[in-house]
Amino acid sequence: MKKAIPYFVALTALVSLSFTQPNFNNNKQIHVVIDAGHGGSDFGASSILYKEKQIVAAISQKIKALNQNQDVIIHFTREEDEFLSLTDRAKMISEIKPDLVLSLHVNQSANIAKSGMEFYVSNTSKDNDATHTIAQALQEKFKKDNAISATEIKKAPFFILKKSAAPAVLIELGYLSNTADRAMLTDEKQQEKIASTILSFVSELK
Ligand SMILES: [Zn+2]
Repeated sequence: MKKAIPYFVALTALVSLSFTQPNFNNNKQIHVVIDAGHGGSDFGASSILYKEKQIVAAISQKIKALNQNQDVIIHFTREEDEFLSLTDRAKMISEIKPDLVLSLHVNQSANIAKSGMEFYVSNTSKDNDATHTIAQALQEKFKKDNAISATEIKKAPFFILKKSAAPAVLIELGYLSNTADRAMLTDEKQQEKIASTILSFVSELK
């Protein structure tokens, strides 16, 4: 038995080491939470005709409808137009224990010239950690596939990002206050394109 102990210790070290980085390269299923921002009495960004809560819900539903991959399991924090606190969302996410969290939002600025997609990671994440790597890869994917420019990765102390044990990226899909971005974000075909870009991204992670 004496000899077995070092083996056991070595094995434990190896196993714990292999779990320090998420491993998406096996053939198992990947579980992804799509967190559509806002809902119910919380409209998020809004223009005369459009509301952020509706745009992100529409894109979430398109992700659901387009997903044909049985190994990509998509979970939603909300599928109805309902108010959910950030604490509720964080609790749901921690119960699901996903491999990845993508929180969908739409931006707004008093500067109507401001446009483009922005990717947020937690301010507690490091420049070379899994979250940052995923945000960069997602940005590259959107640069290739999408009509709205995907320029920036930013760090912010957002609650959902900080509370998530899994890599989490918040995507501001574009500016509702910008005419060109608004036209894209509210166009059904463009919403479908955003949904299929996200879906193809998570399928490739698996
Ligand atoms: Zn928002």
